[in-house]
Amino acid sequence: MDNGKKRNRRLLPDVLHEECGVVGIFGVPDASRLACTALQFLQHRGQQGCGISSVGADGRFHIWKQAGLVKDVFGERELGELPGTACIGHVRYPTSDLGGLENLQPFMMAGQAGTFAVAHNGNIVNAERVRARMEGQGGLLYSTSDSELFAQLIGSGNRGWEQDITTAANRLDGAFSTVILTEDALYACRDRYGFRPLSLGRLGDGWVVASETCALDALGAVFVRDLEPGELAVIDRNGVRSSRHSHPAGRCMCAMEYIYFARPDSVIEGCGVHAFRRKSGALLYAEQPVDADLVICVPDSGMSAAIGYAEASGLPLELGLLKNAYVARTFIQPTQSMRDIGVRMKLSPVGSIVRGKRLVVIDDSIVRGTTSRKIVRMLRDAGATQVHMRIASPKYAWPCFYGIDTGTRDQLIGARCTEKEICTYIGADSLHFLSEAALLEASGRDELCTACFSGRYPTDLYGRETD
Ligand code: SF4
Repeated sequence: MDNGKKRNRRLLPDVLHEECGVVGIFGVPDASRLACTALQFLQHRGQQGCGISSVGADGRFHIWKQAGLVKDVFGERELGELPGTACIGHVRYPTSDLGGLENLQPFMMAGQAGTFAVAHNGNIVNAERVRARMEGQGGLLYSTSDSELFAQLIGSGNRGWEQDITTAANRLDGAFSTVILTEDALYACRDRYGFRPLSLGRLGDGWVVASETCALDALGAVFVRDLEPGELAVIDRNGVRSSRHSHPAGRCMCAMEYIYFARPDSVIEGCGVHAFRRKSGALLYAEQPVDADLVICVPDSGMSAAIGYAEASGLPLELGLLKNAYVARTFIQPTQSMRDIGVRMKLSPVGSIVRGKRLVVIDDSIVRGTTSRKIVRMLRDAGATQVHMRIASPKYAWPCFYGIDTGTRDQLIGARCTEKEICTYIGADSLHFLSEAALLEASGRDELCTACFSGRYPTDLYGRETD
């Protein structure tokens, strides 16, 4: 993805955005068709553009990448030009200021050992430093993408693919779940912290790796395991073998993958996303119960937590807000008044359900607070007598440098305001954010990246400012 310095110049949307999903397939006929299906199941991770690169039986590489949704980019003609039994694919999130098509992935390159293609998910925190050194040595980079940087590092090696990828991955710090396609193998690696998910599955006589298990399920693949932090998996006609490109530096899976980004039917490192959210809803109730008549959710990602809250509280769960999927995204609208209208177009209160009721409203997070404020106002206008907001994540107060589009700290209401002040701003009767302890309890693990809640970053930030 793009380097964080440029990314932070733009206006922060009031929802968070993931920045990419990857898939790799090896040893399966019509690999690109399967990759196309997998990418459709990863579409929630990025909608700006998508691409697939394949290698044919003659060893020739093919690539097609374009702006747009997977269903619109890949038809019979495009897939027909992507022959072979091995390929990699990518979906990319739309950054409005750096939406350059040169940043679409996969990247294809001719290295010293031959042609290869790279696609990755995450953000490399020392990219600017590595890029500067490379350019100082006369290297040419054509995009701001970390994937191209990774590809250039690999391409400059001359010790064989496995060693060259190991050396390149070891020089990079930050978040990357990466797939690399060569003439006769598929390589997959995760950064040493394990920020972003990457799962391995068996697909007939072949193999598939993907950002989320929902993509494996869509292909009918059998889940084998998650790649480990610091692991490099080599998949070729002899099967799968593994090595370490770096010593693991913890198990820092991004908490927001569980809270918001991943599909509820995915399983990340042994914890089902729906189960996680349901448990976090139950813990929200345990942490701060309230007298109310109904539980409703902000669709869609608040739904699983709302189920958990309703089960724990014994309150009925109702459809108090409806989502209209067929409207433009609010964040691309340039003025505040246009964004206000945008929220009303995206969400509608169901008057017959909320009228005269004391509501518990479950949402996954609060970023700028403007959407929550409008939701509270809409529900009151529709006749709700009380609106109690319960947020299934801790207060979001610090920027992310690992591949999530958060903008700068001054754009985050959680960085400027206390819980009480946010409650007043959004106009709710009460507000509660899930605690970090409950977040860990819901995941059933003792380690996650929670830097955007706590300011405790697992990596060096290489001079990046958090304020
Ligand atoms: S800082 Fe937040 S959004 Fe970024 S990787 Fe960590 S938990 Fe995820």
